[in-house]
Amino acid sequence: MTVAKRRGSGVRMSLDEPEPSTTPPPAVAALVTLAALAVGLTLPDVDLRLGLGHRSALTHSLLPALLLLAWRRRAAACGIAAGIGVHLAADCFPRRMTGYATVKLPLLGALPPLESYAWLALNAAAALLLAAWWVRRLHAPVARALVGLAALAAALRYLWHDPGGWPVLALAGGVTFAVARARGGAFSAARGRRACGARSTRSRTP
Ligand SMILES: [Zn+2]
Repeated sequence: MTVAKRRGSGVRMSLDEPEPSTTPPPAVAALVTLAALAVGLTLPDVDLRLGLGHRSALTHSLLPALLLLAWRRRAAACGIAAGIGVHLAADCFPRRMTGYATVKLPLLGALPPLESYAWLALNAAAALLLAAWWVRRLHAPVARALVGLAALAAALRYLWHDPGGWPVLALAGGVTFAVARARGGAFSAARGRRACGARSTRSRTP
């Protein structure tokens, strides 16, 4: 076994021992992701308390999740990204994209309506994609399914109570229906091809 002496400490340690990891155990990581999701759902609106102006670009963006990633808190970043993604998706549907509803850039002020829509939609999509990517990397299939179900329940509850949530629910429902139909069509076409192949093989058999 390779042995080294830690400089200055006088402690002998094995070089074969794994590096201390910052990754929490799987169950803890799943709980951290869920707790972070709950925080992320309302986190963007702390801008009101921080005096940044409502819909500050600093909180209504991917930035909080990126800061956690830079700090190597991946389970928390995954949950925060999911929560922020759902929040921003709902913020894409204000009654009118004017004044209070527009995105405010630090020092530069409010973005025009079209740019505000684009900012919110792009950051929502990026946050949800980031969360989906990290949830696959961080959690084993069973934990992933449980985290996914709990996240879905939390997101539905948030969207149900948020005025901008209804269009998001309708949109998500429409996309889910279209994807299920397309998959169903592809599945029946594959079954049809397999049945045809089996029939022609049987007819060729003497
Ligand atoms: Zn908001």
